[in-house]
Amino acid sequence: MTEQAKTKKLINAPENIIPEMIEGMIAAHPDMLTLEGATGRAVVAVDGPRDGKVGIVIGGGSGHEPAFAGYVGRGLADAAAVGNVFASPSPAQISDAARAADGGVGVLMLYGNYTGDVLNFTMAAEELAAEGIPVRHVAVADDVASAPLERKHERRGIAGDFFVFKIAGAAADLGEPLARVEALAQAANEATRSMGVALSPCSLPQTGKPNFTIGDDEMEIGMGLHGEPGIRRQKLAPADEVTDELMDAVLSELGLSAGDRVAVLVNGLGSTAQIELYLVFRRVKQRLDALDIRVHASWVGEYATSLEMAGASVTLIKLDDTLQMLLDHPCRTPALTVGAVGDGLAATTSRGRRSDKAPEQRGTTEAEVQRELLTEGDVTPAIFRGMIHNVGEQIVAEKDWLSELDGVIGDGDHGVTMEIGWKAVQRALEDAPENETIEGTCKRMAKAFLDAVGASSGPLYATAFLRAGTAVGDRLNLDGRGMANWLSAACQGVRDRGRAEPGDKTMIDAWVPAVAAAEARADKGLSALETLVAAREGAEAGMRSTAAMESRRGRSAKLGARSVGHIDPGAASTYVMLRAMAEALEKALAR
Ligand code: ADP
Ligand code: MG
Repeated sequence: MTEQAKTKKLINAPENIIPEMIEGMIAAHPDMLTLEGATGRAVVAVDGPRDGKVGIVIGGGSGHEPAFAGYVGRGLADAAAVGNVFASPSPAQISDAARAADGGVGVLMLYGNYTGDVLNFTMAAEELAAEGIPVRHVAVADDVASAPLERKHERRGIAGDFFVFKIAGAAADLGEPLARVEALAQAANEATRSMGVALSPCSLPQTGKPNFTIGDDEMEIGMGLHGEPGIRRQKLAPADEVTDELMDAVLSELGLSAGDRVAVLVNGLGSTAQIELYLVFRRVKQRLDALDIRVHASWVGEYATSLEMAGASVTLIKLDDTLQMLLDHPCRTPALTVGAVGDGLAATTSRGRRSDKAPEQRGTTEAEVQRELLTEGDVTPAIFRGMIHNVGEQIVAEKDWLSELDGVIGDGDHGVTMEIGWKAVQRALEDAPENETIEGTCKRMAKAFLDAVGASSGPLYATAFLRAGTAVGDRLNLDGRGMANWLSAACQGVRDRGRAEPGDKTMIDAWVPAVAAAEARADKGLSALETLVAAREGAEAGMRSTAAMESRRGRSAKLGARSVGHIDPGAASTYVMLRAMAEALEKALAR
């Protein structure tokens, strides 16, 4: 596979693939699926949610089909929030799904353990709690290759979602209360282990480029569902040998002994033939037979894909009587049907779905308080908007570089994600009234970014904008001090939301030196431009310093030492942002 290779895809406009896919899915399964909410991203079970039943909300990025919306239906998930390709859905999209799923006794959210998903689902849960909907979460973490057992909480969720969703969905369908459904989902998560192997990459529809490169005769053991590097790359080996390695890793943690029961999922990543998957299953069965472990149920096929990546994963869940009963409980969804349709599905006393799902109109539009705003400083609201507009331009110009950096230590979407977010910000600015304050513009930016972006950077940047805006809420214009306050609050917002520390190899490592440099200038009474230029220089040095660091946050944390030597993409986009702001300010002042 050459670098330039473009994968062919049957698509219309890349920016429309998700709405068009959703339209197709719902049209294909009108007896199971419907769409609810204003975001157009909440796929809801036609006969799932009902009064008195815990709502099961699942979700994640697209590109993993049939996950996630394919698991929506009676007896499984009530609603799925559908993100962009390989990007978490936004809090607004998740909240739409949760409101649709809510039957008045709370909602359980289930998703793969990725920073972006954790942040977005957490923000949605905060919003829903404020509306009076109790929410619990379980982040599925089944991928044994993604972190050692002692750091299990850092592990990624891959095909193990299948078992955890199934079991939680059954428990909710049987009318269990929220705490019990959560406990059972957690028990399923604890009992599930997976490991995969990748043979060839996939390409994101937006970039058309393979998300990693691998030799024609190579495979990568332990690779993640978004092409995150695995634990070892080696020459392609026979199916039995590869399966043995996956099984060894999975078995070593499950503590199985003769007579135990498991369910098995052999999952194809998108372009691996059924023949190969059955070869893998054959070996899995041989290994289990040899240990006298009984296979209670098995699935072989595509259940959690990675676009058109080639490869497979093996998932085992150790069953006890309860988990087995829940696994066997009937469900009917586009991707999975268990039991006879309508057979044994918990009786719906009334189809009485809560009709008024519209979110209560909370608060009011903020009363426009008449305030005396500070007018010192060169950065007027109009100039500020021009600076932000320029960030959008520069991010688009650097998109490929940002995606390439992310391709090396992450999932290759950072440029695409930032472009989506900043273009949404640019559009939102066009709607801003002439006299909008910088604080008002920052709120507008946060909302636009959050609604558009699902990756980790969505909630991180949105929180940054909100905090930064609030920090300068007493000002009309920004001077050096105002600029430094804006930057400082933005940085603190990212830190509070993401909990990364300096040295963890994240955007924080660009923000912290940027803020330190800006504060030093502002303390000397220097101008907004001089302050921002210092911030840009600090960010650039900070960005470069990330190359020497070992990642401890986000997707790349799984790489450990293999992340050393590469610049962090989030630190790079932070630098691009501050550089673009400084550039636009300089031009505006020269006029
Ligand atoms: P995703 O990892 O969801 O694909 P992006 O690719 O858009 O999201 O962004 C990745 C960047 O996010 C990383 O390079 C890193 O700078 C930043 N990041 C990840 N986790 C955190 C965190 N907890 N705090 C601050 N920044 C983070
Ligand atoms: Mg990424």
